[in-house]
Amino acid sequence: MIEITFLGGGGGRFVTITQVRATGGFFIKASKNIYVDPGPGALVRMWRYKIDPRKVDVLFISHRHTDHCNDAEVLVEGMTYGVTKKRGTLIGSKSVVHGDENHTPALSKYHLDALEEVHAPNPGDRFKIGEDEMIITPSLHSDPTTIGFRLKTSYGDISYIPDTEYFEELVKWHDGARVIIAAVTRPRDMRIPFHLSSEDAVYLLKSMKQKPEVFIMTHAGMKMHFAGPYKEAQFIQNLTGVKTYVAKEGFKVSIGKEISVKTLRPARFV
Ligand SMILES: [Zn+2]
Repeated sequence: MIEITFLGGGGGRFVTITQVRATGGFFIKASKNIYVDPGPGALVRMWRYKIDPRKVDVLFISHRHTDHCNDAEVLVEGMTYGVTKKRGTLIGSKSVVHGDENHTPALSKYHLDALEEVHAPNPGDRFKIGEDEMIITPSLHSDPTTIGFRLKTSYGDISYIPDTEYFEELVKWHDGARVIIAAVTRPRDMRIPFHLSSEDAVYLLKSMKQKPEVFIMTHAGMKMHFAGPYKEAQFIQNLTGVKTYVAKEGFKVSIGKEISVKTLRPARFV
């Protein structure tokens, strides 16, 4: 059984600033524990669902934008037991690990040194993660080093398509995945460069020879928030026949023989 818990389904500057939708990324419990794109609030939201950062083995960060990497350092502090133990793996875009002309690296040298392994891979590179294998996939985003992945597991493949605009190759990289999680930032008729819209999602799914069982929209921007992501999910589902869900804080997908979803209640906090 593989379990994916979302710590948010929002993204983009204005959703992030206002937190009208949470921006904590998601957690995959596979043969290892993988945390993906810890945006602002990741640490706080994780504890609401009793996800312990000390249990994270692999931190994956698609690119060096704040809504994806803000909580990276504090996650590493969890992974390394407060930097007392060299532990864990970071797989991040080149901009995350090395910085770029506009950004420092997403993590200080202190935090990078605390990890056992740090990788800034290229599309096509592969990593053994426990019994699973992660294949790095390309993106076309304003951070040109943005990466996604396809995680090959005994329960089928789980793909993550982070911020990107639609390009033909995306189909090839993710065709046949059982579950696809994609950053669908914009609703219909509101496409912007470097991001997917609802129509792009339809086009992507329709172009696949083997469609996924489940498509999960995440990274809703403010325009998507106001257009209504559930309406957009219905639109995608109607046109493609693919069961489409909207990610949000506490949304959990369990992947075994069958795929089931539920929304968890947050733990009470003092
Ligand atoms: Zn983003």
